[in-house]
Amino acid sequence: MPHAYSSRCGHCGCLTAHVQRDLDRRVERLAVGRYEGKPVTSILISRRETLHAFCDKSCWAAAEPALAVKFDLRTTYPPLAFVSSCCRCGASVDRTQPYVCLSISKMTFPPDGSPVGVCSSDRHWAVFCNACEQPGGPETASAAIDLRAPVLEFT
Ligand SMILES: [Zn+2]
Ligand SMILES: [Zn+2]
Repeated sequence: MPHAYSSRCGHCGCLTAHVQRDLDRRVERLAVGRYEGKPVTSILISRRETLHAFCDKSCWAAAEPALAVKFDLRTTYPPLAFVSSCCRCGASVDRTQPYVCLSISKMTFPPDGSPVGVCSSDRHWAVFCNACEQPGGPETASAAIDLRAPVLEFT
């Protein structure tokens, strides 16, 4: 069922329901903190904007190949690590410093019409080196948020 904050699906064009997949462009960095005495990695997100929303996994899967061409990606789904390879040019990316990435998140919007979606799963789709995508680019008002992602166990 569409709701107050539904968007048009980036693949089929229908209105998204309470659960949707968001393709976000983010500026973030990884930092190590401690949780219950164990070292854990946090994703510190300084900017985020949603590029496309998708009604479900199958619409995202259908749109993914064309988007990979559009963003000129050689690889996708880099593992969570302090150093990754740029998904466009292959250069190494120091992820303790700000970098641009694309992520696909499963968002659930509460039925009471609240605009605050809950992120229940989040995967990096692409990570870029600073030469390919500048983390210091223009900031948009809607993206000017600062949040701490759920703490991830670092393996
Ligand atoms: Zn769709
Ligand atoms: Zn690059």
